[in-house]
Amino acid sequence: MNVCVIGTGYVGLVTGACFAEFGCQVICADVDGAKIAALRQGQMPIYEPGLEDLVVRNVAQGRLSFTTDTAEAVRASLVVFIAVPTPPREDGSTDLGVVESVAREIGRAMDGYKVIVNKSTVPVGSATKVRGWIEAELPRRAQRRFSVASNPEFLREGAAIGDFMRPDRVVIGADDEEATAILKSLYRPLYLIETPVVVTSVATAELAKYAANAFLATKVSFINEFANLCEAVGADVHDIARAIGLDRRIGSKFLHPGPGFGGSCFPKDARSVAHFAREHESRLRIVEAVVEVNDSQQRRMIEKITALLDGDLDGRVIGALGLSFKPETDDMRDAPSLTILRGLIERGARVRAYDPQAMEHARKLLPDVVLCENAYEVCEGADGLVVLTEWNQFRMLDLARVKSLMRQPLVADLRNVYDPVDMRDAGFTYVCVGR
Ligand code: NAD
Repeated sequence: MNVCVIGTGYVGLVTGACFAEFGCQVICADVDGAKIAALRQGQMPIYEPGLEDLVVRNVAQGRLSFTTDTAEAVRASLVVFIAVPTPPREDGSTDLGVVESVAREIGRAMDGYKVIVNKSTVPVGSATKVRGWIEAELPRRAQRRFSVASNPEFLREGAAIGDFMRPDRVVIGADDEEATAILKSLYRPLYLIETPVVVTSVATAELAKYAANAFLATKVSFINEFANLCEAVGADVHDIARAIGLDRRIGSKFLHPGPGFGGSCFPKDARSVAHFAREHESRLRIVEAVVEVNDSQQRRMIEKITALLDGDLDGRVIGALGLSFKPETDDMRDAPSLTILRGLIERGARVRAYDPQAMEHARKLLPDVVLCENAYEVCEGADGLVVLTEWNQFRMLDLARVKSLMRQPLVADLRNVYDPVDMRDAGFTYVCVGR
């Protein structure tokens, strides 16, 4: 089957490479000429474990190619995935501007029946808008029959290839049988491993993606509020998470306390669904609270670090370990590190930082932060050390060396990667979250 994916970012590139691996003929299209040129040279625009091998192999075997010519990619394909950004506006609503411009481009290129599939996360009703934008641009003598479907993506950055190849489920939202049949046949390789396929209406599939992210974000804010209560009453949130997580009705995932969720999806999707729910006069009060709790959790981390340094950050040097919103990705979009480090800098702190993959983004997003070569360089002359992202390489640092490099042995472990007793035994004043 011939497939094209428009937008070659975290979702589009993984989708394209994985469908090529399944045996499809895939063209990935993007407006970013430098990105396409680099991909043609086998250079990945993002850090995602396993991606480079997959891309290079499928390009070499002739199933995967890259272009800046979206129209040509559309004409060559039966299934056209839209995987472009859907950023938030100031009020939390979703900006569909890029989706619109891509849909119009698809419309102008249409030369026969195709299934246009929204993989971007978009508010309910977006497929109808996409249909309208395509129809408005159809060449006069073009075949007017086409389908618009929704196939939301649930992959996790850092584990994206595995998630795409072995998903918990695939959701196909289509309002006609032809599109459903084509998308089911595209995902047929997953039937062999008995992946459940949930076939729904388009509107339901669009909303399912928001429901999933809102629910996971709820678990994070829930455990963070309990972590704060644990601090107040002298309880241990890890034990709470284990005690409740072993209950299969609750489940142990997403019960890890920390500085609040970040990344390109949870914050924007939670705000977006809360916004369009309000527009439909059906408020999602839980989701609104989740967003509020998350914002306050990030601010609370600034207070925690300030308190650790006796309430005065002016001129103090703070070392930060980790900048990406989670390990195994270079993605810093909406990372808690941004809010927290900017907050510390506003209070007069000087920040030094290191991240194994996110340094290039950090240079642009945190221009006032001194970027170091490794974790130990971060510690040099620091009045306090903050663990912001739980990369494996930060879990077993040589604590004696860390202590000898720092000006003061103060550690705020916002990911709870160290044991409080070990840290105190090693001579650190140590704070963490909820223990
Ligand atoms: P991204 O920013 O990594 O990639 C988007 C790509 O689209 C970029 O390469 C950009 O150059 C390209 N693009 C922009 N305008 C274009 C145009 N007019 N024509 C062609 N290409 C264009 O974004 P992403 O993280 O892959 O997210 C894409 C969508 O998928 C969003 O709606 C997001 O919410 C959703 N999503 C993301 C994830 C994730 O983990 N990143 C997971 C599930 C769903």
